[in-house]
Amino acid sequence: MKVLIDETTIERRVTEMAADIRALYGDTPFTLLVVLKGAFMFAADLARRIGAPHMRIEFIRLSSYRGTCSTGSVSVPAGELARYAGQDILIVEDIVDTGLTLEVFSKALTGAGARSVRICSFLEKSEVNKGRVKIDFLGFPIPDKFVVGYGLDCDEKHRDLPHVAIFDED
Ligand code: 5GP
Repeated sequence: MKVLIDETTIERRVTEMAADIRALYGDTPFTLLVVLKGAFMFAADLARRIGAPHMRIEFIRLSSYRGTCSTGSVSVPAGELARYAGQDILIVEDIVDTGLTLEVFSKALTGAGARSVRICSFLEKSEVNKGRVKIDFLGFPIPDKFVVGYGLDCDEKHRDLPHVAIFDED
């Protein structure tokens, strides 16, 4: 597999993103809402670097993808959203591809009464998203290739890689 983004580059960028997030929220309490499972590694590194005592961390499971192709449907556990009413939410996602997942999810959060909804994504396939979803904090734009590593999987494998690689079968 070909390395697309190495570990040192990731570390540097995540540190910058954390500083940007801390600067934006200042002393305002906010909730880091981590989308499982792919964002777990990014979120762990990011959260440690933000280091805000008034930051809550929550997790949610959404799914729209199977293997290496999109199913085009998103399921949001609607019953879980009511508790975010009145909160400032920063969604933490691994990758924005078509943008469908976060388009549906951020609208659902706003509909459930969240005070503000912002998006932080580690990766974006910019040519695919084409501005459908506005990303407030972006790690890296990447080409339209299926990638794994740093939390992202292919059938639950390769999440453990410390870098991002373009997936191939060998
Ligand atoms: P979207 O709704 O933006 O099309 O898809 C977002 C979801 O698709 C991501 O949260 C991720 O789970 C999955 N996904 C999209 N592209 C890739 C990719 O290149 N690699 C992996 N592992 N997952 C991807």
